[in-house]
Amino acid sequence: MTITTFPPLGLPEQGVSGRRLPGVRRPVPGAGDNARVTSSDQVPDQLRLLAVHAHPDDESSKGAATMARYVAEGARVLVATCTGGERGSVLNPAMDRPEVWERLPQIRVDEMAQAREILGIEQEFLGFVDSGLPEGDPLPPLPEGCFALVPIEEAAAPLVELIRRFKPQVMTTYDERGGYPHPDHIKTHEISMYAFEAAADPDRYPELGEPWQISKVYYHMGFTLPRTKALHEAVLATGAESPYTEWLANWDPAHDISHRVTTKVLCSEYFPVRDAALIAHATQIDPTGRWFSVPLDVQTAAWPTEDYELARSVVDAPVPEDDLFAGIRSEVGVR
Ligand SMILES: [Zn+2]
Repeated sequence: MTITTFPPLGLPEQGVSGRRLPGVRRPVPGAGDNARVTSSDQVPDQLRLLAVHAHPDDESSKGAATMARYVAEGARVLVATCTGGERGSVLNPAMDRPEVWERLPQIRVDEMAQAREILGIEQEFLGFVDSGLPEGDPLPPLPEGCFALVPIEEAAAPLVELIRRFKPQVMTTYDERGGYPHPDHIKTHEISMYAFEAAADPDRYPELGEPWQISKVYYHMGFTLPRTKALHEAVLATGAESPYTEWLANWDPAHDISHRVTTKVLCSEYFPVRDAALIAHATQIDPTGRWFSVPLDVQTAAWPTEDYELARSVVDAPVPEDDLFAGIRSEVGVR
């Protein structure tokens, strides 16, 4: 994928650290390439988070430190990756070689496997084909058979099945604009909300398992204006150049989403894990890029949380809150 839109809400903006990675756990046995996660029937008293993402690498740039924190705390975390990222570009100059381009789909699967291990999560591909990011004026039509063109009922089916098998209390996804307007990101939002309803309804997709009601759905609220400003000012205070200068100069305040944030998850301890997972997506991430130029201690001091909007909830949990599982822990019997 390419990230050319302003502001690129999911862009990594982090520094690399040589510190020991806290919370890194091995994935559960059997969670190999596209291995099906096991059913959650045996462990009702366990916190389970399902994060739905469009492409391999999105999980590492949106909510990765949150996931690493919950894994370290004993929760099960599963990433559903809608597409294989087949139409993505090679965005790291060091990887921009013919032999990489030839094998790009397989390389992205391998990169995802590495990121999965680093984050300590489980992960499944839902099996759709990347729609690519259409560019030009007028925009070209989307390629035949791509994820964005699959009818919603068909596109949501694998996610309904996964929800009923994994039984998450919490699901994260993108907002109605996709976080950034890639057709696959918007489609990811659409199937997430559709599957949230359908998975709980015994009359829909009866062949895909027993109904399951997700308790809470969250949208990623990555690059809010206050967060970007805080990071920008913190970098400038160190005397370094800020990678956010151009963004902020062009940022239309009407496009700020900070008023939507309901939930701030403290996770700076896991920023190094997030960065390591990002770097595992070597075709997509340039580790020498300016987004890794902001030292982790500066980030931690300026903005130690990842932020979310609570979009749906069937539990009694007042906002603002600092935990995606707020209102669920006592029900599940986990503190
Ligand atoms: Zn993406």
